[in-house]
Parts: sequence; structure tokens; C-alpha cells
Amino acid sequence: MAKIVCVLYPDSAKGHPTTYARDSVPDIRSYPGGQTAPSPNAIDFTPGHLLGDVSGELGLRKFLEGAGHTLVVTSDKEGPDSALDRELVDADVVISQPFWPAYITRERIEKAPKLKLTLTAGIGSDHVDLKAAAERGITVAEVTYSNSISVAEHSVMMMLSLVRDYIPQHDIARNGGWDIADAVARSYDIEGLQVGVVAAGRIGLAVLRRMKPFDVGLHYYDFHRLPKEVEQELGLTYHPSAEALAAVCDVISIHTPLTPATEQMYDAAFFAKMKRGSYIVNTARGKLIHTDALVEALKSGQLAGYAGDVWYPQPAPADHPWRTMPHNGMTPHTSGTSLSAQARYAAGTREILEDFLGGKPIRDEYLIVSGGGFAGTGAHSYDVK
Ligand code: NDP
Repeated sequence: MAKIVCVLYPDSAKGHPTTYARDSVPDIRSYPGGQTAPSPNAIDFTPGHLLGDVSGELGLRKFLEGAGHTLVVTSDKEGPDSALDRELVDADVVISQPFWPAYITRERIEKAPKLKLTLTAGIGSDHVDLKAAAERGITVAEVTYSNSISVAEHSVMMMLSLVRDYIPQHDIARNGGWDIADAVARSYDIEGLQVGVVAAGRIGLAVLRRMKPFDVGLHYYDFHRLPKEVEQELGLTYHPSAEALAAVCDVISIHTPLTPATEQMYDAAFFAKMKRGSYIVNTARGKLIHTDALVEALKSGQLAGYAGDVWYPQPAPADHPWRTMPHNGMTPHTSGTSLSAQARYAAGTREILEDFLGGKPIRDEYLIVSGGGFAGTGAHSYDVK
């Protein structure tokens, strides 16, 4: 029987919800491109309920304990005396989420001799030392596509919010004010702007598709060009580098995976190549950006705004400079954990566990590392180019 350690974000200080704003979420069966949504044998949760916090337990307890396995759920993941570190020593499986990442470092892997699977409930397994996992023969899997559209929607929301300067206007309304001159002093239309996406994979392409009706110029950079029909359908301009794209765009949305090659690729030199007054949206990973250079670019006006959903480390400390830098529209890594997304990644987590614990192969689409190297989706998305 296996021991599964599940690291989830803490319950709200107000407690786990007992009522919800809506009664249901749509049942999405497949994703763009044809991949089918998770298909576990059964689920023991109500789609649309909060599953990603400690009390939500990803809806796994009945299934795992019913089959005789042990489930430990905790949010305590920092420092050598954390519950995660204490439980890791005899764990077979660790489940974590990018929103509250349990950093599975080489040191932690060495302390976990029985560990066979690290499972990301969501997408983005860069919090796992993939090389160390491969060397130990540990499988790394994630629920590919489960929240890609959720993140794409969040990116579009952030672009509109930044350009229209929505958040300060809402603050004025909420605080009893009516200073329209102040409210619109930084507010523009997005129509006619040049909007670029760096990395047109699952999320980036979904962003491009969603931005098309806004009558903007659409640009992208990726290692590989999209099919000609897609370029024509969306009226896309391809650029040979992120820098070339940034030089002509007013807004860029970043969707590059975090790898050793992309860490801090957006730095002072990159920002200097952009038009003065550009906007950046980043729902990919915080470590892609040079922390202090971003603050400087916003203070100097080189950038007119930055909205991001991702930080390093997570949770970000209370004095993280991105919390208070000018013209920011930061969120605390929520884009991929809407209640709609949770239903899919909880189901996908269950599907992966059913297969792994039942001795069956995990869907190739979900594999990042397997058999000592990158595998499945990981071979494409995580292998350093
Ligand atoms: P995909 O693997 O579908 O797409 C990534 C794309 O990036 C691929 O087209 C790949 O190109 C391209 N690429 C890789 N490296 C570079 C580079 N250096 N420059 C330009 N293009 C590059 O990933 P997703 O769209 O699903 O996700 C993107 C990222 O978003 C994830 O890595 C993750 O970090 C983040 N994410 C964030 C979430 C959140 O909650 N905020 C949730 C989910 C994901 P090619 O195919 O040619 O190799």
C-alpha cells in the first residue's frame, strides 16, 4: 500500500466554503487539438467546489483510503522541519500544485528513498528538480491542458485591465470618488494596438485566438511556426526572436516555460528594446523576469504596466517589491486554479493515481519525466532546447 503526501494551499482564514456563488460548472470533455479531458473511473467531489485547499483534499481521501492507501494532506512545506519534510521520508507519491509549490529539490529527493511519483495537480513542474528525479528513476507527471484555457482567459483579462487601467478606476469607485480626469489619465483602448505572444503553445495560441476579435495587430514568437492556416486565420505576424517581437509590440504576453535557458530572460536589456509605455503580462513563471529590472522599468516609465500571476518564490514574501511597484496588476497565482479548473485537475490527478497505483501506464500526455529521462509532454515542453 502506498503513502501519498499531498501539499495544498491552506484553507481560507474564514474556513472552507460551505456555499458557492454558482451551482455548477460546464463539463468540458475535450480541449483544442482533440486531447480528451481527464477520465478517471469515478470522482468523489462536486465539480465547482473548492478542491485545491487542504480541506478540499483534491477529493482524493475516499478513493485512496478505500483502497487501503495512506493520504497525508498538509500546507506546511517550508524549512527542514516542515510537515512535508517529516512525511517525505517514507512517501511513495508527492502531489503538489504550482500555486503553492512544494519545491522537490535534489536534497528532498535524497531524503525520500521510497519516492516513485511526483504529481503536479495542474500544469508546470519546474518546482521539481527534474534532473534529480530522472536520475533516481522517479516519474514526474502533470495534468496537461487541465487549466490552459483558464490561464489564457486570465492573460486576456490582465491585458485589458492594464491598457484600460481598470484597477485604479475601480478603486476610485469603491472609495466613494468621482475624479474622472484622474481615472482616465492612463486609460487607452486596446483596439489598434500591436499585441504579441511569446511562445504560442497551448496557452499562447489560446490567447491569440481570444485577442483576435479586439481588432489588434497580432504577433508571435516561438521556436516553431504555427501552421500556415492558423497564421492566416488569425492574421499573425511571426518574429524570429522575442526581442524582435518586443520592438514592435505595445503589449506582450509571456507563455515561455521556465527552463535554465529562459530564467531571467526578461531583463533590463530586454525592456530597453521595447517601445516606451509598453505593457507586459506574465502568467508563465515569475523567475522568467529579472525582479529588480522590472521594478526599475515601471518606475522609469519604460513600461506602462505589468500584470503577472506568478512570482518567485511562492508564496511571495509580504515585502516582495512586485506587490507595491507602480502600475502593477499582480494576482497571487490564481489564474490556473479557478473552481472550473480545479474540477479538471482534481479529476486528472485521480486518473493519474488510478493508473499509477493500478500498475497501468500513465497517459503519455501527462508524463514529464519517466524511465530516467524526459518523456511524453515533458520531452517536448521541458527538455532544454
Ligand atoms: P506548451 O508546452 O503548450 O507551450 C510552450 C511553448 O513554448 C511551445 O510552443 C514551445 O515551443 C515554446 N517555447 C519553449 N521555450 C521557448 C522559448 N525560449 N522561446 C519561445 N518559445 C519557447 O505550454 P503551455 O502553453 O501549456 O504553458 C506555458 C507555460 O505556462 C508553462 O510552462 C507554465 O510555466 C505556465 N503555466 C502557468 C499556469 C498558471 O497557473 N499561471 C498554468 C499552466 C501553465 P516548441 O513547441 O517549439 O518547443
